[in-house]
Amino acid sequence: MLTGISVAIMGGDARQLEVIQKFTELDATVTLLGFDNLGRQFNGVTHAKLDSAVFQHVDVLILPVVGTDDAGHVESIFSSEELVLTDELFSSLPKHAKVYTGMAKSYLKQIGKAHGIEVVELLERDDIAIYNSIPTAEGALMMAIQNTDITIHGSVCMVLGFGRTGFTMAKTLQGLGATVKVGVRKPEHFARAWEMGFQPFYTKDLYSEVSNIDLLFNTIPTMIVTAQVITNIPHRALIIDLASKPGGTDFRFAEKRGIKAMLAPGLPGIVAPKTAGRIMANTLSQLIEEDFKDRSDVE
Ligand code: NAP
Repeated sequence: MLTGISVAIMGGDARQLEVIQKFTELDATVTLLGFDNLGRQFNGVTHAKLDSAVFQHVDVLILPVVGTDDAGHVESIFSSEELVLTDELFSSLPKHAKVYTGMAKSYLKQIGKAHGIEVVELLERDDIAIYNSIPTAEGALMMAIQNTDITIHGSVCMVLGFGRTGFTMAKTLQGLGATVKVGVRKPEHFARAWEMGFQPFYTKDLYSEVSNIDLLFNTIPTMIVTAQVITNIPHRALIIDLASKPGGTDFRFAEKRGIKAMLAPGLPGIVAPKTAGRIMANTLSQLIEEDFKDRSDVE
């Protein structure tokens, strides 16, 4: 339980509804900042304006998946007003407070450091990345189905990268009956991919491996599907790039060659906000329970 812990939730999208729900169930004292157009009631939560007096009593500040932009703006689909996490507001947080977000840009990291307040980035955690890989793979599949005129079953799919997202993506495609080629750079990943019934290859051989594919799913966050590689990809193929912006594909050249290529960021929040919100809410509540279990932490 989180009884006695003051949690402020600032901005966000539909995923935060699951977080609000979870924290009220766990008896935290919940204050919502930037939820004036919520259109839904949560019992026992307080709505507040951005104000230093509110921040002074906060033990935990929860920000959206992308905490702030580089100027401190916090996105909120439930507010018509601009939300800015200013240095002044941040400095009002008590010293024992912690800030939780999906990923922190340099602005947030810097003000956290300047004021000696820990900023916890959930997306850096392995467990969150693995759970999130499920809605990501389902979202990628949805895009593939919408943008092709063939079935996944019987198609030749390529997955680049065999990390948290690549692994789940490859397994999902295999489950639907695709032939799945997996591009790796480590022998142990090659061996595991082979053991799992995929067709592994080393990414150094990517150029020759792409010649027979129908679909390519990239999870490698560096330029890998280069113009040269694209020259060997069949015109029928579709590229879905899951790697974080700007992706790992030369989109300009793909367009020039007439090959459909799409960057697909933020799929969990788009295709399964409830599941993605629950993933966040469960991990957040466990972390906060652990971080604040010794209530003497809280002044
Ligand atoms: P990860 O577990 O670190 O996996 C990344 C994979 O890329 C690893 O297998 C890594 O291989 C490989 N890799 C990195 N650089 C490489 C290179 N130069 N050559 C060959 N392989 C290389 O990361 P993840 O959690 O799967 O996330 C992958 C990307 O997807 C990230 O950019 C993440 O932000 C993004 N993502 C997007 C969505 C979405 O909705 N689109 C959702 C979740 C994640 P090694 O093990 O050999 O290093």
